Parts: sequence; structure tokens; C-alpha cells
Amino acid sequence: MLGPPGAGKGTQAARIADELGVTRAASGDLFRENLRNETELGLLAKSYMDRGDLVPDNVTIRLVMSWISAPQQGDGFVLDGFPRTLPQAEALDSALEPGGIDRVLYVNVAEDELVKRLAGRFICRGCQAPYHAIASPPKEEGKCDDCGGELYQRDDDKAEVVKNRLDVYFEETEPLVGHYSRSGVLREINGEGTVDAVGALLVEALR
Ligand SMILES: [Zn+2]
Repeated sequence: MLGPPGAGKGTQAARIADELGVTRAASGDLFRENLRNETELGLLAKSYMDRGDLVPDNVTIRLVMSWISAPQQGDGFVLDGFPRTLPQAEALDSALEPGGIDRVLYVNVAEDELVKRLAGRFICRGCQAPYHAIASPPKEEGKCDDCGGELYQRDDDKAEVVKNRLDVYFEETEPLVGHYSRSGVLREINGEGTVDAVGALLVEALR
């Protein structure tokens, strides 16, 4: 599954895996799991993170491939958040030969809608209660319903930062969309409806 931050991709990936009765991996979860279990790959990834470096593609690829080759994934699987770059996609293609990925579902949401979703988060300074300008606004603007504390925005959730994160994502993902579109497996889904509506489109695209 491909989709920008804020597109609801994680939620949908979990639903699809349930619906199809297959397993699912989010690449972030795989990292955390390997770090927690101190596997060889986990420790290798950690050595890069500890230096403040990005984990190189070949380590990420090995991590995902070791998950894919486990027997639980024999009936199929949903990948969420991987591949993220063209080299990762090419490595995945050759590792899965013969065969390959059956479908790439691209959950597309317009950038201004994503900024609205992602930059709408606020937190109470007093009790840390989360709010969202659209999804769960406080009764009184800027004030916590529970404790009356001041609501603030984390730096990560500010519109400027969010826009920058999205730009990086789109730049990175554009070549992937082209790659899977050329191989005929890409299905683009409009991700701006309700969770149920988008879920139905995704299931349809898999048939
Ligand atoms: Zn509060």
C-alpha cells in the first residue's frame, strides 16, 4: 500500500489484511520488533540510527524479506510503508521472482486536504489530552475541555513542517507510482471519503 502521511493507509492496510485473512507488516513495526528482540538485523539497523544516519536500503530490504519468507506469510501479505524508494521496489521485485507483487494500492489524497488533517492536531499543556481542529475540536477554541489548560501544537504538527514532510514523501514516491504503473499492478484510489467508503474502493480494486 502506497499513500502519503495522513491518507489513512495504516488503518486501511489493517482492514484489508483482516478482510483477506492474510498478515500485514508496517515497516516501522518490523524495525521496532527487530530492535526489541535484538536480532542481528535489528542491531545492524540500530548502529546506523545511533549515529544519526538513515538505515540504508539494503538493511531495510533484508529486514522486510526475512519477514516475507516466514511461513506465516505463505498465504499472502499486505505491506504498509514498504517499499518507499525505487531501489527498495526493485529489490522487492527481484526477491519475489518469479511472481512479484499482485497489486499496489495507492491511496491518494490532495495535498491541501492532507495538511488540514495533519496540521489540525493540538495537545493540552495541562493534561496532554489530544484534540483535532476538524475531527475532535474543543468546545472553546484553544482551551482543554477537561482541565481548561492551554492547547498547543507540537512543532511536527505545524503546517510548515507538515507541508515539508509531504513534499519529501511525494518526491520519494513519484518514481514508485511510475514503476508500478508501468508494470500494470497500480490501482489508484481516492482516499478522501469515509474510512468505510475508501475501504470498499480498496477491496474492489483487489478483485
Ligand atoms: Zn487538559
